[in-house]
Amino acid sequence: MPGRLLVRNIGEFFTGRIDAPTAPVRALLAEDGRIASLDPPADVAAEAVIDADGGAVLPGLIDGHVHPVFGEWTPAQDAIGWIGNYLHGGTTSMVSAGELHIPGLDYANLTPELVTSIAIVTRATTGRVRWSGVKVHAGTVLLVPGMEEAQFDRLAAAGVRFAKFLFFPFADREAEATRYVAWCRARGILVKVHTGGVSRSGASVVCGYDVLSWLQPDIAAHVSGGPIPMPDADVEEVVDRTAFALEVCSSGNYRSTLLLAQRLAERGQLHRLVLGTDTPGGTGVIPRGMLRNILYLASVCGLTPGEAVATATGNVGLAHGLDEGVLEPGRPADFLVCGPVTGSAGSTLADAIAHGDLPGISHVVIDGRVVVAGGSRQTPPPAKPGVFSCCDAGGSRFACTPA
Ligand SMILES: [Zn+2]
Repeated sequence: MPGRLLVRNIGEFFTGRIDAPTAPVRALLAEDGRIASLDPPADVAAEAVIDADGGAVLPGLIDGHVHPVFGEWTPAQDAIGWIGNYLHGGTTSMVSAGELHIPGLDYANLTPELVTSIAIVTRATTGRVRWSGVKVHAGTVLLVPGMEEAQFDRLAAAGVRFAKFLFFPFADREAEATRYVAWCRARGILVKVHTGGVSRSGASVVCGYDVLSWLQPDIAAHVSGGPIPMPDADVEEVVDRTAFALEVCSSGNYRSTLLLAQRLAERGQLHRLVLGTDTPGGTGVIPRGMLRNILYLASVCGLTPGEAVATATGNVGLAHGLDEGVLEPGRPADFLVCGPVTGSAGSTLADAIAHGDLPGISHVVIDGRVVVAGGSRQTPPPAKPGVFSCCDAGGSRFACTPA
């Protein structure tokens, strides 16, 4: 591997696209890390094969809101190995919403130079390499007053792609904040803003419709709470009177999430809904967090299983300018093979998701490489786990282990 990877005997196929979330695809061919074709000819040759045994294939989940610090270590919960654990919960990509858990960081005295340096250092370390195979898009600058355009030049040159308003006092600083958004846009940096009440730091700024209406970010973070949501009337106004992406996180308020999801569905705006966990943090380290978000949206909030999967995959990728999240030729071959767990009310994966039952993951593939095979260490096994095999030089097949 990489070479060619064929997945055959697919029973259910989730595209990751909110407008066409499922398709009658029965086989997928990946080559050199990308999807080469869907339903290739039956006699196609491949070095590696996953026989899905009627199981489901869906895009790898993209956690749109994580808080990394140094690779697999998170001081937020004194834990090591969190990214690898999220991989086994189906997350193949994640986007940092700011590296604010650095021990000793003084939120009351963040300077433009300090936040610029943190983002550049993180981009060059945690954001530079894969962790447990997962794509970690890290090095997200936390915007503070007093920044100059030259700092945005340095951030862009270092490869920083995301900026976040979290500790920025909006009152009387409308012109400055608007200028930052323009500087980001000119450099291809996407802007996210903390919304709702104060966060665990105690130093973040309250943000509802009033600020969002003029700030016009690319993504409003955890609109239903992270942890405290904006008032219901603000949630409704944000849905009705803005057009940017609206994020729901595991750290949020379930009642507000229901309100937001129903409002978006009523208005035909589900393409704006994106998911994240907002972890590690006070909510904890949640390897199955993205799956639980999908289950809540499908089993309580009225989304179809395919729509719920799309809000965790294609929608997140699109909102964050990523290539990942949709299964179609030319895209990265990042996907999961999974199915209902023995004892689940669901006879298919879609049925299980509609019931709110956790899927069992058997295989995780990133860039065409099988990184989890034969079962996740974070979910129960699917009733039909499928088989991963490779081909030796003589053409005979043998059971393989992950790359
Ligand atoms: Zn956060």
